Amino acid sequence: MKQKEILLNTQLIKEFSLEETSDEPPIETGAKTPLREDAFEMDDNLKIELISKHFKEIMHILGLDLTDDSLKGTPTRVAKMYVKEIFSGLNPVNKPKAKLFDNKFQYNEMLIEKDITFYSNCEHHFVPIYGKAHVAYVSSGKVIGLSKINRIVQYFARRPQVQERLTIQIANELKEALKTEDVAVVLDANHLCVSSRGVNDYNSSTITTNYSGKFQQEKVKQEFLRLLALK
Ligand SMILES: [Zn+2]
Repeated sequence: MKQKEILLNTQLIKEFSLEETSDEPPIETGAKTPLREDAFEMDDNLKIELISKHFKEIMHILGLDLTDDSLKGTPTRVAKMYVKEIFSGLNPVNKPKAKLFDNKFQYNEMLIEKDITFYSNCEHHFVPIYGKAHVAYVSSGKVIGLSKINRIVQYFARRPQVQERLTIQIANELKEALKTEDVAVVLDANHLCVSSRGVNDYNSSTITTNYSGKFQQEKVKQEFLRLLALK
């Protein structure tokens, strides 16, 4: 019962006044996703049940006939997709465990994992952001399984996001997982809130970067960027 009270509390909706829903999103500060402390007191099944109910309401308000065969399963489908797929990265239990291995080959140069495809969603419009992540690090004695890098990118992408924060969150997690400051992250992404609505600019893409440790040295950074450009 307590769980339902949390969601049905209209305080959050009231706070979202009309002035705040202008097209200019607020400037972001901090790298943490703004989550409430009670974010995971409710289990996934209850979240799906409640989101489904509210999404049905949205569809109803839009005038859609929910008895139509094609539409009637949509609210539950969307709710499951939110909780189990596209926003599953909100829940720390889904965070990939980063298993490290000894750097047996004594490989002490940079390792680049490039063109990691990611799908995220803009937290201001709830429409997709998709693109490529390029990640590099210099081993401090430990190495990580390559697919773990992809999983870390995807975990943080599966949240309502802004690209700047996503970039920093990936970098911070890699630094922590790899026990090194020598990390670089570049994201190149398309935002459907820019291309499919608003200014309708389908040609632009957004690039964000985060360089730490050795990657702040011009020579190392240039080497990384040169290797990224190789096809
Ligand atoms: Zn947006």
